[in-house]
Amino acid sequence: MVVSYKSKLKYKDYQDLTDQIRFLSLEGKIWLGEQRMLLMAVSAMAAFRREMVNTMGVERAKGFFLRLGYQSGLRDAELARKLRPHCDEIDIFLAGPQLHALKGMVKVIPIQVDIDQEAGNFYAEIEWVDSFEVEICQTELGQMDEPACWSLLGYACAYTSSFMGREIIFREISCRGCGDEKCVIVGKPAEQWEDAEEFARYFKADPIIEELYDLQSQVSSLRSSLEKQQGQYYGIGQSASYNKVCKMIDKAALGKVSVLLLGETGVGKEVVARSVHLRSERADGPFIAVNCAAIPPDLIEPELFGVEKGAFTGANQSRPGRFERANGGTIFLDEVVELTPRAQASLLRVLQEGELERVGDNRTRSVNVRIIAATNESLATAVEAGRFRADLYYRLNVFPVKIPPLRERLEDLPLLAEHFLRKFQTEYNKRTLGLSDKALELCLRYRWPGNIRELENVIERGVILTDNKETISQEALFAVFPDSEFHQASPQPSEVIDDDGQIVAGNTHSASGHWADGILNSGISLDEVEKTLMQRAMNEANQNVSGAARLLGLTRPALAYRLKKSGLLSES
Ligand SMILES: [Zn+2]
Repeated sequence: MVVSYKSKLKYKDYQDLTDQIRFLSLEGKIWLGEQRMLLMAVSAMAAFRREMVNTMGVERAKGFFLRLGYQSGLRDAELARKLRPHCDEIDIFLAGPQLHALKGMVKVIPIQVDIDQEAGNFYAEIEWVDSFEVEICQTELGQMDEPACWSLLGYACAYTSSFMGREIIFREISCRGCGDEKCVIVGKPAEQWEDAEEFARYFKADPIIEELYDLQSQVSSLRSSLEKQQGQYYGIGQSASYNKVCKMIDKAALGKVSVLLLGETGVGKEVVARSVHLRSERADGPFIAVNCAAIPPDLIEPELFGVEKGAFTGANQSRPGRFERANGGTIFLDEVVELTPRAQASLLRVLQEGELERVGDNRTRSVNVRIIAATNESLATAVEAGRFRADLYYRLNVFPVKIPPLRERLEDLPLLAEHFLRKFQTEYNKRTLGLSDKALELCLRYRWPGNIRELENVIERGVILTDNKETISQEALFAVFPDSEFHQASPQPSEVIDDDGQIVAGNTHSASGHWADGILNSGISLDEVEKTLMQRAMNEANQNVSGAARLLGLTRPALAYRLKKSGLLSES
């Protein structure tokens, strides 16, 4: 039976409540019943609240304060039941508003309260006067856009829910904190509110750290995609071999098939993969690039497919893998041959069923991800060697595209060089006069083992070393040229530059012209030359075969074989 307490809303006296307060100053404690309390300055709370709003934003801060009030409401409901066991239900209920007032938070004027504890019905309309949270808005935060009595509201929800034994939600329908005339709240069972679910979310603590990590990774992927976008060189080129690739890529982009990109290191496989994505129907979805060789084998599964909390030591949080993050978009798996057998099996499942399971989880999740794989090693060979699953290979190899190395499309080099020049001049805020003719000629004769990536590095170096309004010379580009990497003979360098940009002694071929001529003219046979050379090497290495083999650039067995053949080493 609903009892409407419209006319009887008078507070019982406060004595039983105030009796619960004990100031034990010598012990540094204040008690309310069995709760230890704090006497805090509103201004300190105001400063704290302002900081929360500024760092977390209004929505998150609101959640924090709602939950703060909620905890306090639960405890006071317990206290009320204990203190007023034999009272009317309305007097028990009103202990909440009274405690709120006692604590100095707000003066509560009940306007209407209907209670039917048996059927679980509840309705209340209550006015709040002099809410401390409104005062905080007036002194620290300024007027809010929406009702601001957050912790009071959390308290009312918790207190009443506990009192009724079911979920009751209060909403502040007008608030002085946002410019209304009064603060008024209305409470009723959760299911009678249309947006109950949305509101209930405020009461769930969601660890911001997770979101921060997530945002951090989004920022880094956005940043790198922005950089990539700016450094985008897809489609730059006019050579027949490259045009053929572009035509294939454009076709692949329109379809849904997996694409397998083949080609040497540095030919720009990721750039091509990204352009497949950008030209596809998934262009608005995410593009996630993963270099499988860069992730330790035991981390590759959690990284790609996600992990559930507790799956292994260190898995403190459940998190989605790259496949889940790529949902609706494209994932680019570079160096796919490096995947562990288990990761290969999971990848096959994604390809076949569009499903995955996080590590340590048995829930199956659907993903809709387009896969672009790349490798600079033959997958067929890896299959033969038993390192790569044949069924996965066939799945990936539906649409293979081979990207030619730069040396096979040198006619594209001037355009690419121009592209990187513009990029690095902007980056370093420089205006050079571009490559000198000699420098460009050298570029066109070089074999570019590192392909476009190497060209990019070389141009960057050239821009760095060249002053404004000067041309980029060959020295600025290369410093010293490793001769063997050039198509045509050029003056022999005595020093070359290694992968780290260090100058090192040139290889021994550089002087080959002189002594070869001498040998040819002297009529010494090749066997003789070999034998003399081996003897010298053995002497250098104190008759140690391994040491001599190193000097000659041979393996130990190879040298041993030759030594035996020429009689320099006994058969034993
Ligand atoms: Zn208010």
